Amino acid sequence: MDLLNTLVDKGLRRETPTRGEALAVLATSDDDLLDVVAAAGKVRRHWFGRRVKLNYLVNLKSGLCPEDCSYCSQRLGSGADILKYTWLKPDEASKAAAAGLAGGAKRVCLVASGRGPTDRDVDRVSDTIRAIKEQNGGVEVCACLGLLSDGQAERLREAGADAYNHNLNTSESTYGDITTTHTYADRVDTVQKAHAAGLSACSGLIAGMGESDEDLVDVVFALRELDPDSVPVNFLIPFEGTPLAKEWNLTPQRCLRILAMVRFVCPDVEVRIAGGREVHLRTMQPLALHLANSIFLGDYLTSEGQAGRADLEMIADAGFEVEGTDRVTLPEHRTGGGCGAHDDGGGCGAHEGGGCGSHGGGVCGPAPSGAGSCAGAAEESAPRTDEPRTDLVAVRRRGAGTDLAPNA
Ligand code: SF4
Repeated sequence: MDLLNTLVDKGLRRETPTRGEALAVLATSDDDLLDVVAAAGKVRRHWFGRRVKLNYLVNLKSGLCPEDCSYCSQRLGSGADILKYTWLKPDEASKAAAAGLAGGAKRVCLVASGRGPTDRDVDRVSDTIRAIKEQNGGVEVCACLGLLSDGQAERLREAGADAYNHNLNTSESTYGDITTTHTYADRVDTVQKAHAAGLSACSGLIAGMGESDEDLVDVVFALRELDPDSVPVNFLIPFEGTPLAKEWNLTPQRCLRILAMVRFVCPDVEVRIAGGREVHLRTMQPLALHLANSIFLGDYLTSEGQAGRADLEMIADAGFEVEGTDRVTLPEHRTGGGCGAHDDGGGCGAHEGGGCGSHGGGVCGPAPSGAGSCAGAAEESAPRTDEPRTDLVAVRRRGAGTDLAPNA
């Protein structure tokens, strides 16, 4: 396909595709899907080889947020039955981080619900960053605390933070439909503050909120303009108890096209599959590794992911390798020859929560007679790819904020 040859050439040269080309990727047919993945996979391998960076989320403060982001289980008035707790102590956060690092993660993403941190919160998170860095050599730390006021990014940087995450989430023109308590411009401003303070900027999107293809292309082009080092791609988990609970409109194929489009528009950037990976890509997750070079290990902020061990097995089975702490994630031209870890992109993409558990996943049960075959039952009830899969959404009940061991 001429389109794909053109996009590969542009991706290898870091040239921006046209909007028409990006839209055409989203409009490709299922017959062409493997060709799309193969083409975007060439760009991914050119810049990142077969490495997969693992990131680990630590939810420092969960729920009770005064903002009204309609996709978020932690929002004002959310009826989602999530864990709610206030700030973890530095040693509690460090313990949770250590579990993720032992599981293979090289970056820890410290996330707190809320509009943005107070100066006292920044002190608190600074103590946590220092504790994590002291107790876990070589770790990269990303903070995700909401909108930043002047000087806060610099203070986080001084405390040892490597990166700051704040997602644009959706296009400027639809932002007001998703959130009313802050603006798209507020979000852009925080990403710019992080950048200006010397933090590696991380900013991404959420797909599946009822947006059009044009909206998706708009937000990805806006991200290219902002030039973060990493772009997390969340697939909406329509939590019961949130306004978007009925927005089940993603298929695995659609998710793969979105990731391919992001890779073509942001070819040399760390593209991370964030919340919703297990819920929406389901058995197609390994194909998505040909597009993204980064994932979260284990659980998400308010929902459970598949077992950390299953993440590692998937990476190995698909022929990829977990990126070690001795490797700089980003290509050399993006690190500017500076200190590797600090320039090394990434950060949490899941301020809004998300994630899934691989629980209750619709496998066939015993036949009523005890004699029927699994295959027969599956034929009768073969799942459609576009149906709500509430059975795959499990609220997180382990790890940070609980007495149970984390999933890593
Ligand atoms: S995304 Fe962040 S700011 Fe928005 S409601 Fe959720 S926790 Fe609050």
